[in-house]
Amino acid sequence: MEDVFCSREELLPTVFYETERFMFVYDKYPIITGHMLIIPKRHIEDMIELDASEWKDLEQLKNSALPKALGRYCKDGISYNVAIQIGEHSGREINHLHIHILPRTAEDSFKEDSQQVYMNIANRKLRDGSSVAEEVKELRKLFKYRPE
Ligand SMILES: [Zn+2]
Repeated sequence: MEDVFCSREELLPTVFYETERFMFVYDKYPIITGHMLIIPKRHIEDMIELDASEWKDLEQLKNSALPKALGRYCKDGISYNVAIQIGEHSGREINHLHIHILPRTAEDSFKEDSQQVYMNIANRKLRDGSSVAEEVKELRKLFKYRPE
């Protein structure tokens, strides 16, 4: 069941925060500035496989790291989309649970048609000129995260 999220090698350059059971990473192919992923370290495919300790960890992450990260992108009030694709008909490409966090602003590139943000998760076309490396650098600074 090895995939790019299990092996982690591919994720390490974009991790900016982690808990015991989750990684918080910047999406390598963002569709919007601030496109982030919350990924369990354990290989599971469905939300319903999360165990009690993982839910607890996730709750901690959503209470602290999530608002902190969103605060960087949502300057005019917290606004974001969440997307999770589960199962073979969902459009998922990596069969390892991951939660898309998509910060939204009044001026973002999806403002004309907000629902397009979901279509674009599959299309993977960055709508603006932000740089992944620069965002990871700034998020790591914000979280005082030092990769091992
Ligand atoms: Zn996996």
